[in-house]
Amino acid sequence: MQTPALTEMDSRYLVHPVSNFRQHQEKGVKVLQSGDGPWLTAADGNTYLDAFAGLWCVNVGYGQQRIVDAATAQMNQLPYATGYFGFGSEPAIVLAEKLVSITPSSLQHVYFSLGGSDAVDAAIRYITHYYNAIGKPTKKHIIALQRGYHGSSSTGAGITGLPAFHANFDLPLAHQHHISCPYLYRSNYDSAQALIDASVAELEAKVAEIGADNVAAFFCEPVIGSGGVIVPPKGWLKAIADTCKRLGILFLADEVITGFGRTGTMFACEHEGVEPDLMTIAKGLTSGYAPMGAVLMSDEIFNGIADGPNKAAVVGHGQTYSAHPVSAAVALEVIKIYEEGMLAHAQAVAPYFEAKLQACLSHPLVGDARSLGLLGAIELVADKATKRPFPAAIKLHETIADIAWQHKLIFRAFGDNILGFAPALCFTESDFDTLFERLQLTLDDVLALDVVQNEM
Ligand code: PMP
Repeated sequence: MQTPALTEMDSRYLVHPVSNFRQHQEKGVKVLQSGDGPWLTAADGNTYLDAFAGLWCVNVGYGQQRIVDAATAQMNQLPYATGYFGFGSEPAIVLAEKLVSITPSSLQHVYFSLGGSDAVDAAIRYITHYYNAIGKPTKKHIIALQRGYHGSSSTGAGITGLPAFHANFDLPLAHQHHISCPYLYRSNYDSAQALIDASVAELEAKVAEIGADNVAAFFCEPVIGSGGVIVPPKGWLKAIADTCKRLGILFLADEVITGFGRTGTMFACEHEGVEPDLMTIAKGLTSGYAPMGAVLMSDEIFNGIADGPNKAAVVGHGQTYSAHPVSAAVALEVIKIYEEGMLAHAQAVAPYFEAKLQACLSHPLVGDARSLGLLGAIELVADKATKRPFPAAIKLHETIADIAWQHKLIFRAFGDNILGFAPALCFTESDFDTLFERLQLTLDDVLALDVVQNEM
């Protein structure tokens, strides 16, 4: 139960991620208590439809007893095994092999992290080590997308292309660069191909400006997540990956959100047959039942590090909880759930989700609707013809999230009034009906607000 004492304790002691410290203290915490499938029950006693799978991670839904059983069995048998000093555990080894078998064939080696940020961080460290080891020490610059998200680590947050992650953190670093993201709705290009060509040209120009001998890698999400669910035109990812290859820079696909069935294939790279040099994963890997992420890398990178001039020394990157056996046991069970039918189910219901999302365009507030698999968004605008956004100062997205909460619906309302959806892969058509009924009520209430009417 959520007592005033618990709320007070939260506001006094708990620092929340990506929050406005003072505003959070004033508003108070919403304590979540239990979950079942796509449903969440809060400590206020109400049950909410979670159309965001926690933080786009609980892909298999809540309350999967078989995952709890797998974790319990592993905890009983051996709750921890270090990977240092040549030790290891069976679930971690089996999971590494499994991941290599289900990801693109270019990826052959796995380092396990605790989540996405430290997977990205490990990738940066291995890339740096690799180029030093193969005698190309000037290759240190990393290019990524504006609005891309690559975590909150002290260097990874600089590769992230979102201002809030840079301001007051002295980021980005001098060797971190950003190019435009493929945002067709808000671009000046009238065709997908024109946007793809422009993206490729911008990447080529950025590499030329820095000098190909100084550029290590390009990082991107196959679909931008935290930057507002921006789905690139079909063919964009392949064009960019091919450009990286042609320019002699590594291509890292950050599949922390898009992995594990989220976009309709096990990994989003599969849509276009892209073979990245590195891939970061987390979230759906364990479906949020335990913390774990990973970076996968090619033979070329692994062997470059292994056989470099320092080959007699240890590679100084590690974490106490890398390859944690309980998280690995959870991940193995979660992957079984995808493979035994949940991925196929997600593929089957995705057109229903897409049709419902596109139908939102008939609402006076909705300027754009976009999705890939079960990752989607609608974008609210003050004027559909000009795509004029609502002024940031009115913080409409916060009001939208509050109204949705009153209608017992959870999604993510981004600062620019993009409403993001990442339903668990177990959503049925009836769950989608409930989602869109509650969304309609939310949008109608938002439309009736004076601050909204004044802008339209
Ligand atoms: N990369 C991407 C694409 C992400 O979406 C996220 C998390 N939202 C991260 C990295 C960082 O992952 P984590 O929050 O687990 O550290």
